[in-house]
Amino acid sequence: MTQLVFATHNANKAKEIAALLPKEFEVLTLSDIGFHEDIPETADTLEGNSLIKANTVKQKTGYDCFADDTGLEVAALNNAPGVHSARYAGEQRSDEDNIRKLLLQLQGKDDRSARFRTVITLILNGETHIFEGIVNGKIHESVSGTNGFGYDPVFEPENTGKTFAQMSMDEKNEMSHRARAFQNMVEFLEQ
Ligand code: IMP
Repeated sequence: MTQLVFATHNANKAKEIAALLPKEFEVLTLSDIGFHEDIPETADTLEGNSLIKANTVKQKTGYDCFADDTGLEVAALNNAPGVHSARYAGEQRSDEDNIRKLLLQLQGKDDRSARFRTVITLILNGETHIFEGIVNGKIHESVSGTNGFGYDPVFEPENTGKTFAQMSMDEKNEMSHRARAFQNMVEFLEQ
């Protein structure tokens, strides 16, 4: 059995990925191993932040591990909010405020194309591996739907005709950036 720590305290996220991994991997959360230190996410890229998280866990606990970081990248805003997605409108990390700011920034812009991008850094047997998952789409002019979180009410993945917030959790999970990035890591671990 290979134990892998997922650099999150979210047990649901960990359960989801554990279900996809080959049986010889056991997924533990930071709470499972009693790691409660704050990990500062100070890099200015998704790659950098996922690397900081994975490196910190490896160095401080010795466990092989993986960490994810996600951002919404909007073409007309030079890929903002990107790595700053959670705190786009301020430290209060409010989804509502973030969406309001995003719609304001896009006012009058013709190009509303955007993508969600997830980066995962895996540290295993002394090597570092990076995986990515992307969903292309566009930003609506107003909110639609009540499911999901974050920017889901204004993000419509291409070829779907509805926002992430108008999809069931299963429907979103089948195509999401996070699911794609994890799938790429799973395929690597299956090799
Ligand atoms: P994290 O790296 O998963 O914590 O994501 C950072 C921020 O990106 C979140 O706080 C949300 O604002 C946004 N975000 C990440 N994933 C999603 C998603 O699936 N839907 C909508 N917003 C998301």
